[in-house]
Amino acid sequence: MNQKSPSFATEYDPQSRYDDLARFEPEFWKKKKLEQMSKAEWELLCDGCGKCCLNKIEIKGKIKFTNTRCRFLNCDNCLCRIYDHRFEVVPDCRNITLEAVREKPRWLPKTCAYWLLDNGYDLPAWHPLITKRADSVHQAHMSLQGRDVISETEVKNYEDHLIDWPDL
Ligand code: SF4
Ligand code: SF4
Repeated sequence: MNQKSPSFATEYDPQSRYDDLARFEPEFWKKKKLEQMSKAEWELLCDGCGKCCLNKIEIKGKIKFTNTRCRFLNCDNCLCRIYDHRFEVVPDCRNITLEAVREKPRWLPKTCAYWLLDNGYDLPAWHPLITKRADSVHQAHMSLQGRDVISETEVKNYEDHLIDWPDL
């Protein structure tokens, strides 16, 4: 998960990301390639879905998602509880870089804005950059909020938790 700057602390309000959109070029995501974006633009692309924090396993060269999540993901708001120091605490937490977005096999969900834009698609109508509301990803049921997801701490065998949700 790549969300949010500057912090994912508990007091962090995701809506604050969209309070200052006027300083960005309108629809910058249609005018620039991912590699041309500023750090601030890049960060704004993340919709806050939390789906990249699901655990995955590779089977026969394909990434399969499970309905198990990183223990540090808060599924109520889809925020990382340890965002500022996540890479020290969770060695396999992935930074969302251009290389990670282009990695094969694909490991980001099909709805991930980075993957969509890099593959020639536009942002979906529910994306917070379109709605200017951080909660629109939840209201569109595109995040992990309200889904049947358990913590990795409860998992015995990941293969028992494979899922095939259409938005993955
Ligand atoms: S899947 Fe993509 S859009 Fe969703 S939280 Fe992860 S980086 Fe952000
Ligand atoms: S530490 Fe876990 S919850 Fe936080 S961003 Fe990484 S995978 Fe997601």
